[in-house]
Amino acid sequence: MTLEYINNELHMNGHALNQLAEQYGTPLFVYDEDGIRSQCRKYHSVFEQESLDYSISYASKAFTSVQMVKLLQEEDMKLDVVSRGELYTAIQAGFPASHIHFHGNNKTAEEISYALDVGIGLFVVDAMDEVALLDQLADQPVDVLLRINPGIDVNTHSYIQTGQEDSKFGLSIHNGTALEAITAIKNSRNLNFKGVHYHLGSQIDEEGPFLKALDVVFEWLSKSGIDIEILNMGGGYGVRYTEVDTRYPIEKGFANIISRLKALSAEYDIPLPHIMIEPGRSIVAEAGITLYEVGVVKDIPGVSRYVSVDGGMSDHIRTPLYGAEYEVVTVKENKNQSMNANVVGKLCESGDIVRKNAALPEDIRRGDLVAVKTTGAYHYSMASNYNQMMKPAVIFTSRDNVREIIRRQSLEQLIQNDIK
Ligand SMILES: *Cc1c(COP(=O)(O)O)cnc(C)c1O
Repeated sequence: MTLEYINNELHMNGHALNQLAEQYGTPLFVYDEDGIRSQCRKYHSVFEQESLDYSISYASKAFTSVQMVKLLQEEDMKLDVVSRGELYTAIQAGFPASHIHFHGNNKTAEEISYALDVGIGLFVVDAMDEVALLDQLADQPVDVLLRINPGIDVNTHSYIQTGQEDSKFGLSIHNGTALEAITAIKNSRNLNFKGVHYHLGSQIDEEGPFLKALDVVFEWLSKSGIDIEILNMGGGYGVRYTEVDTRYPIEKGFANIISRLKALSAEYDIPLPHIMIEPGRSIVAEAGITLYEVGVVKDIPGVSRYVSVDGGMSDHIRTPLYGAEYEVVTVKENKNQSMNANVVGKLCESGDIVRKNAALPEDIRRGDLVAVKTTGAYHYSMASNYNQMMKPAVIFTSRDNVREIIRRQSLEQLIQNDIK
């Protein structure tokens, strides 16, 4: 990401952030569009080098919008959706339905019918009940993957672990339910069994769990005599929020995953399937920042200092939700950053924290701008109207362009569904 101070002012891709804040207001999400594109290309290149049959499906839930979806199409990505709303957004953006995959542990009949109507490419069936429901609603053949649970614990926050045995997602390969569901799919009227999917969790910083999952899944496929055309390994590749995080090493990590795949395919005499992965966070997180304006600065002598900004948990929920840490910097360069400041939001909750103990200048005051880094994933998409806060605007910057891709919500929009 090209975030740098030029003449003491923070710039992204050569555009001064104070000017963007002036023009579009704060809080403001600003993305490095080139950075998003280069992440997409990095994923493509690791698979292309190995001349594998593959596809990369972006998980909409990390951040989606009409312009984001258009960018993904230009970058030859496929798309995961988990709701009618995400699917609608993709369709409105003109994304080809055949390149969309539908996930979710509780797809409603209404969602399934809509997805069938628009002709999406693949359903990732998550439960026994869904086999029957989908089969009943479909009146022509649909391709499905089964979401299996390989029973792998990953070292990440429990709210973003998904592949352990005790999970609401998928069917276990250990207790026999996955195999039962595959049999049911094969015996159904309209469902074409294409293969399996698993997703181990999120913010995983090493390839170990992915390798382990491959070992477990290949052994199970072989033992159960299941042929697959598609193997979907999910997403979850970690990013660097602060200096304590390790970024998932995309090049090295996938080189190892692919070589394990080839070895297992030879060992079990299972032809290499079409490989799918589903990165979300790692495509957008590090490309995005949030700009806030500082308001009240409160010192409690000998205790602490609170620096309040003009947004908070309505646009930054990951810290209140699971204690996620972020780096905060001033938009005007100030090397005298010694004071431990708690950067907090303006919403009426004590847990409305952006960053505890941030290193900010001693003389920070009302009107200063701060940037919170690595807020490109699970921020705008998790934003709410709590306290009747309006969702921020979103800007894409590239070397030679700045464009608004989502307008700031208006007061009028806050009450547009209210009966007056
Ligand atoms: C959330 C999710 C992803 C994306 O996870 P990231 O950590 O954002 O890469 C991929 N697949 C499934 C099924 C998911 O639920």
